[in-house]
Amino acid sequence: MIKKFGGVAVLTNQTSSERTLISELKPNQSSVKLLGHIIAINPKEITVRGENKTIFYGILGDESGTIPFTAWSPIEVDKGDVVEVSNAYTREWQGSVQLNLGDRVKVEKTDKDRLPKAAFEPKKAKVNELRSGIGRVDVTAKVLEINEREANVEGEPKKVFSGIIADDTGKAQFTAWDDFKIKENDVLHINGGYVKSWKGIPQLTFDSSVTVKKLDKNKIKKDEIEVKQIPLHRLVEDKGALDIKIQGTVIDIRPGSGFVNRCPECKRVIQNNECEIHGKIKGVSDLRIKLVVDDGTGAVFSVLNRDVSMQILGKDANEIKNMKQDELLNEINSKLFGMQISLRGNALSDDFGITFIPSNGEILEINVEEEAEKIANGLEDIL
Ligand SMILES: [Zn+2]
Repeated sequence: MIKKFGGVAVLTNQTSSERTLISELKPNQSSVKLLGHIIAINPKEITVRGENKTIFYGILGDESGTIPFTAWSPIEVDKGDVVEVSNAYTREWQGSVQLNLGDRVKVEKTDKDRLPKAAFEPKKAKVNELRSGIGRVDVTAKVLEINEREANVEGEPKKVFSGIIADDTGKAQFTAWDDFKIKENDVLHINGGYVKSWKGIPQLTFDSSVTVKKLDKNKIKKDEIEVKQIPLHRLVEDKGALDIKIQGTVIDIRPGSGFVNRCPECKRVIQNNECEIHGKIKGVSDLRIKLVVDDGTGAVFSVLNRDVSMQILGKDANEIKNMKQDELLNEINSKLFGMQISLRGNALSDDFGITFIPSNGEILEINVEEEAEKIANGLEDIL
């Protein structure tokens, strides 16, 4: 792959005085130099070895994108400042690059003009293009769901609104840090929000510094929003997605499937009625299926909870109740192994990769004769 800036790819441990663009940052770089503007910055109280300490979380942006940062000591900057950062370092956290401002860091305010105008202009994006690091965005989407909660912002209670937005390409979560009087079904033009990810699920975040306009509700109709089926290689590249469908062959049923016992306190799976946190305790019986689905382009790991497991096996609670572990595992193997299934739900990522958590699942009935005929016809074409 040829890098967009400069022909030679210098990826690791860059120590030169050259500025790095945010979009080019990789995990585990040291002595990183950046020029950007502070899009958000918030203090957070933490306890380190019994002592209270204030650290700062924020978002830094330049003309190539945005990145979340953590400052481990106070830094003298405000939202909107253009800053030059030197001696920062990067780490990987939940599958994305994170910028750290440690003891050696230097953060200096500088002229706004030093940063190209493009750094401040939001990029037009469809909902399925939203991912952390994309920078400030200009999005038009329909509100499918909105919830209100109270959050504590710098010691003050504040109303925060969050929910789900969608367009004809997909769904994402959103968080509004101000009351824009948003209602379900509203079509919003949000100009200037930025994207954070939680376990790979994109979340559009905006506050009063952003323009939010209500458009005609029919600009995006409810029936234009469908649950998209995503090929698995794309899911792996995107590192997560909200409310999508996947389809593929069950190529593996993993140990840990079947009946399990959970601690009633912390829901951890326990052995011999002993929880590593809560000690001797009477477990509560649960049921799950852990499997790997492959669609020919990629594979993902999926955990089906009790309800989805029963749904896909076509069993009700009474039928399950009288089964023994061996019988259940046989049933899972004979019904699912090698079969085409369709799952609907969320894809979440962590350090180990993607886990698909379905809310619905079904075995696809494949007409064996029809499939055989298709293959035979295909062969005739080749021959
Ligand atoms: Zn426990």
